[in-house]
Amino acid sequence: MAQKNYNVLIIGSGPAGIFAAIWLEKLGMDKIAIIDRNSYPAGGLLNDGKLNFDYRIGLDINELQIDREITEKIMQEIKKIFIGFPHCRQVTFIENTKNIQTIADMAAEHGAQFIAPEQWHWGSDNGKALVDYLRGYLKKTDLLLNTEAVTIEKPDNNKFRIDCRCDKKKIHYHARIILVAPGRGGAYWFRDLARKMNINNNYGPIDVGIRLELNRIFYNFITDIVYDPKFIFKTGRHSDRVRTFCTNPGGRVRIENYGEFKLINGDALFGKKTKNTNFALLNTVALTKPYSDTTEFGQRIARQFFLLGGGKPLVQRVGDFREGRRSSVATFNSTIRHFEACKATCNATPGDITLAMPARIMDNLWESLKSLDKIIPGILHPSTLMYAPEIKFFDTHFPTDRYLETNIKGVFVAGDGTGKSRGILGAAISGIIAAKGIIR
Ligand SMILES: Cc1cc2nc3c(=O)[nH]c(=O)nc-3n(C[C@H](O)[C@H](O)[C@H](O)COP(=O)(O)OP(=O)(O)OC[C@H]3O[C@@H](n4cnc5c(N)ncnc54)[C@H](O)[C@@H]3O)c2cc1C
Repeated sequence: MAQKNYNVLIIGSGPAGIFAAIWLEKLGMDKIAIIDRNSYPAGGLLNDGKLNFDYRIGLDINELQIDREITEKIMQEIKKIFIGFPHCRQVTFIENTKNIQTIADMAAEHGAQFIAPEQWHWGSDNGKALVDYLRGYLKKTDLLLNTEAVTIEKPDNNKFRIDCRCDKKKIHYHARIILVAPGRGGAYWFRDLARKMNINNNYGPIDVGIRLELNRIFYNFITDIVYDPKFIFKTGRHSDRVRTFCTNPGGRVRIENYGEFKLINGDALFGKKTKNTNFALLNTVALTKPYSDTTEFGQRIARQFFLLGGGKPLVQRVGDFREGRRSSVATFNSTIRHFEACKATCNATPGDITLAMPARIMDNLWESLKSLDKIIPGILHPSTLMYAPEIKFFDTHFPTDRYLETNIKGVFVAGDGTGKSRGILGAAISGIIAAKGIIR
């Protein structure tokens, strides 16, 4: 039975919220609740489930104000929990040093940095089982589902009042401390609210790019060694940063629906593999004066694709791209052009991605792809598909102390939606740091 008064109320049941609650319980806190607007408490834990155990991936240790040693220590504690889940299996072994060094040398020869972390994976098809397993760690936390936080106020000095919507009814809770971990899906709700509450925030960079899908035979010789290889480029023409991200051997390309636009993403199942591999190629974009609103910039790009794709993302074959022409339904699977070598796993609109992508970003992506094709010959086979847009809106940044408490005492933040992480593990780490701060 839900109570009305809590010591800690956590908004968001993704990895940031769940791990914060696990640690709060572990550290002796009681009267904890997690609220989530969805009927199933999971957030992004239902997505793919690749874990990168490396302090350089999925988080920024400067943002979290922790050093490498502390990061690795917390990662090990989280790892113990995840690998207790029977379907979480190791997919990259860093002990494979000779092969990994060979790939790193090939990358260096073509101007790229290569990172191969220890990686584990459970697959989207095991997402629900994973969440049920994690829920087993929560003994004292109330899970308030189908409950959307609308506003937060502090009518008296002791407690926050959180007004929520639940089954079209208005309800409210009181809590001494609030941890906001709403993920990217709730980021703008909280940013608007934070501005009303005078919680300091500013714009951070976004990642804009494309997702490649290719016949997996071209990439297997690397992904068999490193499941999700990380190549990082600094482009010659613009000196910008481009990186590969979220590689899914045997995976699928997915569409994320944001209402007024759609974005590309990718995942893989544990039990059923496709003949393709997909990965994102992302260009980091930060804006300064006179316009620093990366949210609006990214959304305008996304809306441009939505417009040209007739309400769907665009997809273009490399063979068409090289010839400077759009892809079309009529020739999309042309055998004369060898397009049958890669069957699309996602229903996007064949078209011309260069019409909607800013020139500087397109230059950076193509330059990096040409280097990548030298490291992984065949990656630019004519059949390879380029889907766009893939955009990561980690664009709102909340200055906090080292326990992730904002300038408003008692309001802590964690996870992707508040700029504290960029992945499951990073989100979990930030949740744990906030939990430790709350206890303190
Ligand atoms: C297709 C896809 C594949 C991915 N694959 C991987 C991967 O393999 N590895 C990896 O590390 N990361 C992956 N990610 C990213 C990963 O899902 C996120 O980095 C991670 O889930 C962020 O965790 P979080 O706790 O910050 O937020 P989330 O997991 O997004 O959770 C936030 C929760 O807050 C709730 N919420 C938001 N606003 C409110 C509100 N106002 N009231 C109540 N509840 C609210 C939401 O319903 C949600 O459940 C993938 C993402 C996608 C989309």
